[in-house]
Amino acid sequence: MYNPKSLKAEEFIDNQEILDTLEYAEQNKHNRELIEQILEKAKPRKTARGVECSGLSHREASVLLACDIPEMTEKMYSLAKEIKQAFYGNRIVMFAPLYLSNYCVNQCVYCPYHHQNKHIARKKLTQEEVAKEVIALQDMGHKRLAIEAGEDPVNNPIEYILECIKTIYSIKHKNGAIRRVNVNIAATTVENYRKLKDAGIGTYILFQETYHKESYEKLHPAGPKHNYAYHTEAMDRAMEGSIDDVGLGVLFGLELYKYEFAGLLMHAEHLEAVHGVGPHTISVPRIKRADDIDPTVFDNGIDDDTFAKIIACIRIAVPYTGMIVSTRESEACRNKVISLGISQISGASRTSVGGYAGYTAEERPHDTEQFDVSDQRSLDEVVRWLMELGYIPSFCTACYREGRTGDRFMSLCKTGQIQNCCHPNALMTLKEFLEDYASPETVEIGEKLIKQELEKIPNPTARKKATEYIENIHEGKRDFRF
Ligand code: SAM
Repeated sequence: MYNPKSLKAEEFIDNQEILDTLEYAEQNKHNRELIEQILEKAKPRKTARGVECSGLSHREASVLLACDIPEMTEKMYSLAKEIKQAFYGNRIVMFAPLYLSNYCVNQCVYCPYHHQNKHIARKKLTQEEVAKEVIALQDMGHKRLAIEAGEDPVNNPIEYILECIKTIYSIKHKNGAIRRVNVNIAATTVENYRKLKDAGIGTYILFQETYHKESYEKLHPAGPKHNYAYHTEAMDRAMEGSIDDVGLGVLFGLELYKYEFAGLLMHAEHLEAVHGVGPHTISVPRIKRADDIDPTVFDNGIDDDTFAKIIACIRIAVPYTGMIVSTRESEACRNKVISLGISQISGASRTSVGGYAGYTAEERPHDTEQFDVSDQRSLDEVVRWLMELGYIPSFCTACYREGRTGDRFMSLCKTGQIQNCCHPNALMTLKEFLEDYASPETVEIGEKLIKQELEKIPNPTARKKATEYIENIHEGKRDFRF
């Protein structure tokens, strides 16, 4: 029986509820009146507190996703853009993945790190190597990382992950610092989540891969990840272990996208119902070619237009949730989807273990790589490109460092204080990037943008302070935040 408040995976991701939702969506996909009503309900509204959006239920959002009337799709896109503008403005937060170890005991059939892959080189970074990777990432200008590791209780136990986090936070090379470490490791225990929280992590990210239980079990034929319930209930354990920012995602291509979309939103509704706060982020990875993985053998691949529509519908359904697109996607695809609701992107990523230190921007080690990266530009190029498109690349990590996590972050969104807080923080961290890491062309565009964007800070005191801080950064000071 479907019950969003249940702590049992099969009750909050109830298969029958998803099937009923898909049928309801199919029956109503040309029901213009209903679609108009749903779009109307999702619009941002001015309230006494600021701007608010109601979001949509998984059923309502599934109707939008199923609708194939071009004129309605256009309306969805413009609403998604409006919502994004209201809560995220033109800021795009930057991050990079850091692969710690590709030892893995699981057998995920889409991942080259699967245990039966005997020819891929296995590697686990030593603490000295972690430090070198972090210096290389700091030298590019990164401030926020997502650490990645295979699941292997012997080679990558929680103590190893904790030690790496400690090393990462301890490295201060020149003006560099990693100020937020997000963690993407396998589902674990409440006790281990508490240890991660105590180590100062930002978001705990775990992709569901697929919400379809039967497919999930086939796609993970052995190893601890085979357990659907343990994996699906991981976010509840993470929250019980006092991690309040969790990141969901599915790997698009494994199952039917409409099924995954409904499951993803049901998962978000479940977190909201049980813990009073939805997911901090949603990621939308698509399967890529990798060592012994051919993405075309998975039947459910989605084209770029469907991908864009999924992103727009997620934006409309969960307006306060950040959305992440990685370098799995090409420059052209990223260009299209950023405006529809993406708030975070990775830049200059290496998906191999030890892929940063000692390599030039053009060199790309493939031996331990998890998947092919489509967007292979340097961080400087990605930053410049974003600014040319009118976005503000942001290296901000302030919310989490100021304790604005979970529902406190959501309330910042709702009270409209974002423009007085996130906007100046984005400009100040961009200024640090320009001072310390950018090429002269990037500096030229960036300085103009900062000047122009400072004017848009509504509160005069905040505007004055931000202007002063930016001057201080030019004089050599670092790490200001609102
Ligand atoms: N081992 C952990 C786990 O099982 O959740 C964490 C991280 S794994 C390094 C990160 C993610 O990469 C996986 O959750 C999966 O969705 C994605 N991934 C695996 N193989 C991929 C492929 N061939 N193409 C694109 N993404 C892939």
